[in-house]
Amino acid sequence: MSAARRWNISRQIGRMRGDRRALWLLVLAGAAMWGWNWLQTHPGDNPWAPLDLRDEPGWATGRKIAALRDDPQKCRAVLERSEVAFTNLAPLGEGACRREDRTRVDAYPLHPQVPATSCAVAAALQVWFDQSVQPAARASYGQGVVQIAHLGSYSCRRLYGRSEGPWSEHAAANAIDISGFVLTDGTRISLAADWDGKETDEAFLTQVRDGACEVFGTVLSPDYNAAHRDHLHLDQAARGFGGVCR
Ligand SMILES: [Zn+2]
Repeated sequence: MSAARRWNISRQIGRMRGDRRALWLLVLAGAAMWGWNWLQTHPGDNPWAPLDLRDEPGWATGRKIAALRDDPQKCRAVLERSEVAFTNLAPLGEGACRREDRTRVDAYPLHPQVPATSCAVAAALQVWFDQSVQPAARASYGQGVVQIAHLGSYSCRRLYGRSEGPWSEHAAANAIDISGFVLTDGTRISLAADWDGKETDEAFLTQVRDGACEVFGTVLSPDYNAAHRDHLHLDQAARGFGGVCR
């Protein structure tokens, strides 16, 4: 083979390689554009999208809600963006029971009244109601929940009411105890009576417990111990990676 012909062949191969590289670049650019568009339409899966509590939850939602635990200001901005009506109450209390962050979601169907909680608890309650409690009630009973019974949020005490040891999240109203649910037709489902009750009630209560684990730092149910036989304890303690769900 002459030197000129060899040179010609290697030039042709070089051009083919160049074409293939251009094709790959086009494929990559197309994939990146597709991915970007997909993220725009799936904000729950998009870690850069600002949190809106009305969005369908995705894999990024839990982490965004967790980020509100230490940032009441950011949390209130999220409530505003999500068009959740709330009242920001004045700080109250002393020492370990001082509450700087007292947020009340006015229209939340809590009974006997809507207590002031930390904003992170209020935001999680909102997502829990829309994304877990209502869908679970419709699936189990074919109707919605109109009332959620609670046993209180703020309580200036240490864990299990002991005289020493760590303070309960209730001391900062960063927790709430849920005791039951009332359906549209007036049916009552309570943690105390129905956790080990009819199959439908058990399924509903287990589903809302598991749903709470997606948005709260700590969830303790009757499965955990006798102290929780009649309520779900939900709190927003920052637990680092993951949370407690029992
Ligand atoms: Zn509790």
